[in-house]
Parts: sequence; C-alpha cells; structure tokens
Amino acid sequence: MGVSENQKLATIAVHAADYDSIAPAIPTVPPIHFASSFVFEDYADLDRVFDDPREGYAYARFGNPTVRSLETMMARLEGAEASIAYPSGMAAVDGVFGVFAQPGSHVIISRDVYGATLGLMRQQYCKLGVTLHEVDATDLDQVREVAAKYKPSLIHAEVITNPLMKISDIAALAEIAHANGAVLSIDNTFGTPMLIRPIELGADIVLHSTTKFIGGHGDVMGGIVSGNLDHITAMRDRARINGSIPGPMDAWLTVRGIHTLHLRMKAHSANALVVARWLESDDRIDVINYPGLQPDHLADQFLSADRGGLLSFEIKGATLESCGRYLEAVKLLKPATTLGDVSSVTLHPARASHRGFTPEERAAWGIRDNLLRVSVGIEDVDDIISDLDQAISAATP
Ligand code: PLP
Repeated sequence: MGVSENQKLATIAVHAADYDSIAPAIPTVPPIHFASSFVFEDYADLDRVFDDPREGYAYARFGNPTVRSLETMMARLEGAEASIAYPSGMAAVDGVFGVFAQPGSHVIISRDVYGATLGLMRQQYCKLGVTLHEVDATDLDQVREVAAKYKPSLIHAEVITNPLMKISDIAALAEIAHANGAVLSIDNTFGTPMLIRPIELGADIVLHSTTKFIGGHGDVMGGIVSGNLDHITAMRDRARINGSIPGPMDAWLTVRGIHTLHLRMKAHSANALVVARWLESDDRIDVINYPGLQPDHLADQFLSADRGGLLSFEIKGATLESCGRYLEAVKLLKPATTLGDVSSVTLHPARASHRGFTPEERAAWGIRDNLLRVSVGIEDVDDIISDLDQAISAATP
C-alpha cells in the first residue's frame, strides 16, 4: 500500500511497513489495533461506515476492532444485544446517566452504591436539573412509593451492595421500574456474569467497572455498559462526540482477563467462603457479611453457587485507630482501595470508601468504625487466613 519503486528514504520511512503481510495472518488471539484511523476501500465503503459505524471502521473515536472484540465478548457474557466500552467504570456510569438523566427528569439511586456514582449524580447532573432520590434499594416498598410518586427515568442499583454485601432483588426492581416507565440499570461489578446476569432478571442496562474482576489483574482501568441496541446506540452516539473511549491496549488487557474470568470467579468464591467460615468461628469477630453464609433467599435465588470474592467483617471492640493497626499489619493482603484483583486486597470503609460521610450517616447504614472489607484473592487460602489472623490480632483490644 502506497509503496512504489524509486521512493525517497523519507517516504519509505513513512510508508514501507508491509501491510500486505498482515491480511493473511490470522492470529489465535485478537490482535491489538493501534491506529487512530482506518482506510476506506472505496467510496461505497466510506458511505457504509459513516451511515452505520457497526459496518466498519473510519476513525478510532468511532470504533476500534480491539475495543469491538471486548464489546462483543461482554454482550454475549451478559446476554445483551450490544455493549459499549469506556475508559473507566465511572465513564461507564456517566455514559448511562448522560442518556437517561436528562434535565428535568427524576432519578432513583440506591444510597449504598459506589460513592463516586452518587457523587457524579449529585455534583454534575443535579446541577443541570436532574432530581435525585436516594433510597434503600433493599426496601422495595420505599422504592415503589418513590417511583410511583416521581415517575423516574432511571433506577440504578448494584448487584451486591458495598460494603455490607446485601443482594438486590433485581427482578422486583425491574418490575417497579417498568411499571413506572423507568429504565433499570444495574452495576454488576461485584457479581460479574459468572455469578449473575441481571438482564435475564429484567434489568435493561448492566454495567461494570472492568478495572475489577473483569480485568482481574490490577493492571488496567475500564468500564462497559450492556443493553439493548437502541440504548447502547444512544450511548455510542454520545461517546462518539464526547470522546469517552478506551484505548486498544486497555481493551486488549481486559479481553485477556476475561479469558480466565470463569476460573478466577470460582477461585475467588471458594477462597472467600473458606475465609468467611473461618471468621465465623473466630471469637474476635462480631459480624460477617458474605452472600449466602447465612441462609439468604435473595442470594440463593439469584446468585450462582459461587458467591464472589468480597466479604466484610467487624472486629470486636476495634476502633478507627486500631483498624489502622490492622491495615499496617497485613503483609500478604494489600491495603488498597480496589477489589477484584488476583491478589487479596483489604480496605477500611470508614476511612476510605465511606470517609466522606459523617459517623452518624455511616452508623445509620450499618457501616461501623470497626468494619473491614476484604476482596479475597486467588492465593492459597491458608496463607490468606494466616495473614488475616495476625492482622486481626493487631486490632483486637
Ligand atoms: N462501580 C463500582 C461498584 C465500583 O466499585 C467502582 C470503583 O471502585 C466503580 C463503579 C468505578 O469504577 P472505576 O474506578 O473503574 O472508574
């Protein structure tokens, strides 16, 4: 392409890469397409691509084959018609809000969603004229009442609440949303399609921070939204002009992570169950939150036999300060504000994810100062327990 005899060195330097050798090479894994634009074969091709971006590639802000392979994979995993990838989980949340939270509309959000999700709505969308109603999404009567009164355009909740690990009744929320003309959007970051597929339960939109279990290795940020073609097209139209697109390297790392998602979720879940049972038998521990550790009809009804890698627990008599000693004592577990990595990670909600709330607000939600969250990794579970054991001792009065 573009190469002919007698070209000068500057032209060869720019054009002489051997494009012809690329076409017949079919790699066994999706390649990374580092390109900001793609050539048209002819005028008809140009028209096709501009009229329907799914027909081909023109400019990487409109679509990139590596990103598309991630989107195709996630749509199939979530049982959705289509998906759109974003550069972070928050960009994915913004993608949903940007379409379904228009000025003048009402939006219902579960008050225990990821803090930045509420922050985005409060700090950006409410200023533009959206009215936010924060509810306890596990209190269906409350959601029903608010939805009937305000006829929201969007109801948004998470599959497993953070950090108390309560399961949302997605089927009931979908019924309430649809009875009131709303779209139900579910953040499935904690669950992943290996545990639960919200679209099968009636959700219209399912989103992920792929930074977490989907990517799985703590080396990439991303987000993805799945839903029906009309909804995803509306988000894509917006992303095409606001440029909220992931890079091909990030998309590729995420695809690579997904190849082992089923194995990792099994390993995370098996380890987390053993850790939860060990905590349950330990006198130093007061409360353990892990889906299905106690009989839980929502977890049993909606989640697979695997219950994920996240759990939280309270250390008897521990304070804000002594929980700091726990964080300093962990050696194998990493004290960090993330989750879903292959390595175990731990966090003190009162001082990290929920530090922006008053102690009274936290207490009202059941997030006490002595609550700690662990994203249980896929290391040998005996090593995880022995590290937790000594760190809990450091915080125990
Ligand atoms: N949703 C949930 C449930 C999260 O836990 C997070 C981040 O922790 C996000 C969304 C935002 O994702 P990101 O950090 O990739 O922007």
